[in-house]
Amino acid sequence: MLTPPLHAHPLHTSLTSTLFAYKSLKRTSLAHTLLHAPLLARPLHVHAHTCSLAHASLKYTSLAQASLAHPSLKCTSLHVHPCMHIPDTDKQTEVEIPSPTPKEREKKRRQQPMCHISGVKKLPHGCSLTNCSIPRFGVKSDQEELLGKELDNLNKWGLNIFRVSEYSNNRSLSCIMYTIFQERELVKTFKIPVDTLLTYTLTLEDHYHADVAYHNSLHAADVMQSTHVLLSTPALDAVFTDLEILAALFAAAIHDVDHPGVSNQFLINTNSELALMYNDESVLENHHLAVGFKLLQEENCDIFQNLSKRQRQTLRKMVIDMVGPPRAPPGAGANPTKPLELYRQWTDRIMEEFFRQGDKERERGMEISPMCDKHTASVEKSQVGGGDPWCHPSWVSLCGWTWPWMSYGVRETLDGDRELWCHPKWVSL
Ligand SMILES: [Zn+2]
Repeated sequence: MLTPPLHAHPLHTSLTSTLFAYKSLKRTSLAHTLLHAPLLARPLHVHAHTCSLAHASLKYTSLAQASLAHPSLKCTSLHVHPCMHIPDTDKQTEVEIPSPTPKEREKKRRQQPMCHISGVKKLPHGCSLTNCSIPRFGVKSDQEELLGKELDNLNKWGLNIFRVSEYSNNRSLSCIMYTIFQERELVKTFKIPVDTLLTYTLTLEDHYHADVAYHNSLHAADVMQSTHVLLSTPALDAVFTDLEILAALFAAAIHDVDHPGVSNQFLINTNSELALMYNDESVLENHHLAVGFKLLQEENCDIFQNLSKRQRQTLRKMVIDMVGPPRAPPGAGANPTKPLELYRQWTDRIMEEFFRQGDKERERGMEISPMCDKHTASVEKSQVGGGDPWCHPSWVSLCGWTWPWMSYGVRETLDGDRELWCHPKWVSL
């Protein structure tokens, strides 16, 4: 595997390369600003944010690779780890076609092969929203004051998404998406009917699997809020257009929708419906995109209805670039840089998801994937819970787009300071 050289200032190198690439395709002022900004002299939290933002535009980097002579970036950006996405095929079957018996389902499936995107369900949110007033944060809450208090941190790194979920009846994604769209005035700018926005967000949230330990709507809400914060970095003020911001936030919201909690490789190895549908190529990434866009066609769900045809096309292309392989939206994989109490929870969740996949593999007599064997992962587990939790290869696999984050992180030291660090092993996994 290719490992990029870790220079004295890897953050700076990566950042400037990335942004330079981005700007080489687009405007020119940002690259200039950032190339000459005294990055390493800034407060640490700004480093982390700016680093993340740099990676927000990694996708553009890949587009410009041919014209750029940045070998280190070239190497790493081509080695995005395939998603750890994993479907439970039985469960998929259940939600795909609401037929009364498995036999009937099978029959119907054979009659209409590949004619629909699996996983898309009919949901009644439209009716419930049209005739009632919309709650302050978009979702019903019997603890609205507490929810409001937590959402005071909407623009900050380290908002406690777990609490948002608790106060919003497990509607963290709907709540975060609605609130961010309002906060950024995207609703006004793109003339998004509020009831349509909520119908879409609730429908989208319902297409995340609540019983998947890590890749559920809470993770999507977390990634979306992180993206929102990253896009607010002062250094990038006025760099992205409203449409680009809309695309990035939408990409974050849909980026793991209908994730079954198993990896692409598992899907392929088990000859799953999804692997068949997408010809074993970036199965989950393609599926998240297909479902995310397909849901716009559900009743009162088209949040882009007032965009021009051109805007819709541009947005779609950007979202596909960000969610599709290799992934590079901002925000995902940011766990290591979050406050300790939050990222420990994420760690527990991803390990649980890995172990569940391992259990499935064991049941089927398959070889158990790395990190997925609960009987042998005790060392890694203790590492995760111990002093150096992010020296952990499993993090590389959280999402298809996490690698840039994994090579740089923020570590809480014993005396409470936080320091920027990097880990070359991660980049070469
Ligand atoms: Zn993800």
